Amino acid sequence: MSSRADTSKEAFPLLPSIEELLHDPRLEELGASVPREVWLAFLRALLERWRGEIKAGKLDATALSARLAGSALVDELTAAVGRERRAGIVRVVNATGVVLHTGLGRAPLHPEAAAAMGTVAGSYCVLEVDRESGERNQRDDRLSLLLQRMTGAEAGIVVNNCAAAVYLLLNTYLARGKRDEVIVSRGELVEIGGSFRVPDVMERAGVVLREVGTTNRTRSADYRAAVGERTSLLMKVHTSNFRVEGFTEEVTPRELAELGGELGLPTAFDLGSGLIEGDDVEALPDVMGDEPRVRDAVASGVDIVCFSGDKLFGGPQSGMLVGKRAAIAALRKNPVYRALRLDKVTIAGLERTLELYLAGRGDEIPSRALLSASADELRPCAERIAAALSSFPDCSVSVVAERSQPGSGAAPGVFLPTWAVRFAHARRKAAALAADLRRAEPAVFARVQDDALLFDPRSLLPGDEERLVSAVRSLLA
Ligand SMILES: *Cc1c(COP(=O)(O)O)cnc(C)c1O
Repeated sequence: MSSRADTSKEAFPLLPSIEELLHDPRLEELGASVPREVWLAFLRALLERWRGEIKAGKLDATALSARLAGSALVDELTAAVGRERRAGIVRVVNATGVVLHTGLGRAPLHPEAAAAMGTVAGSYCVLEVDRESGERNQRDDRLSLLLQRMTGAEAGIVVNNCAAAVYLLLNTYLARGKRDEVIVSRGELVEIGGSFRVPDVMERAGVVLREVGTTNRTRSADYRAAVGERTSLLMKVHTSNFRVEGFTEEVTPRELAELGGELGLPTAFDLGSGLIEGDDVEALPDVMGDEPRVRDAVASGVDIVCFSGDKLFGGPQSGMLVGKRAAIAALRKNPVYRALRLDKVTIAGLERTLELYLAGRGDEIPSRALLSASADELRPCAERIAAALSSFPDCSVSVVAERSQPGSGAAPGVFLPTWAVRFAHARRKAAALAADLRRAEPAVFARVQDDALLFDPRSLLPGDEERLVSAVRSLLA
């Protein structure tokens, strides 16, 4: 008989039953702090894990007895309860410097937009009724109007996110008889992250993808040569998260629009990030490289332009489609729109965000303000944080010249100069400190670089400086 079998034979009977754990006085208070079903699940999971260790020969009777008598049992269950309490969507301090951080919720909204969302969330609102006539109307009538004013387009419609916008677009044009082909430049078949791949979405929308050109060069003539009886749409996708440099050529939106006009085919441009600049909106100071602007895309004459609501636009998660009246009307008529449309809360946040832009207050939108901040403007904040953290023993704190990335696949290759706080501890690894900070109250997300933490003030919102300092303090106390 193997020794493994021997040890497991002795260890298994020592495993407590659920019933015994439920009556263990050491666990009483902890167990009462979570719903009973949750507690039972934790107990089962723990016993399951330990049973597995015994089976694998990693836990013998002696070690198991020690766990049961010592603190291991309480510690493991305390950790499980802690994870449960910290789970879910909660506020965090984003000290990564990545302003549009998809993992941390992308664009933080303007307080007025956030307040508008909070108000309608907890009340009734005028959603699909006209206040003047009392008659039924469309929930996004005002939103469309604001989008027209903002982008210069004839019409607009908004769905759950930009991925949904692309889906609605493709699915709508697919529905036109036997035409099921979409022509796209090979260099623009991008993967955005979070496994959003343009070609996959196209396939799911039921269209046949016709790639033209090469990775680095596509000309109008390539599109023209690929057009056939089955062509339903000519499409252009902004390569949001990478940049092909050197010997490159792409079809401009204007060329695409002209070709579409000549051949009687609809055209679309998926912009992704959606940089809003125009008559009333001050430009982001040259930080966005050659990121295309929504107004220019619309003015180029393509039928439909789509972009994200929570990237450079700085609003709640949504996907905007703007363009020619007939093209947008076709999207609205597609029954699939009903499955992708926005709820009242998001519409309220978007309306308010658009109103801010239109009132010439675009520079107040938090993500834009953060992206616009110069290194000189950020430095005092870095200095204050460094000063507040410098008094701890065993810590080395300095303010260093660094670069922040915009994030969310917006403006690839763009790095914004910043001043960051470099924080290292003589006895604690940076990765472990970073993990503790993520679990702290309030939670803080920082960058780890060369075994030090980097706190970049670029992505700090009002009040975050104090939250960050207090979280680090509580960790070292
Ligand atoms: C980000 C992006 C999308 C997806 O946008 P979501 O709002 O995240 O769904 C689609 N197309 C392009 C070009 C993008 O950059």
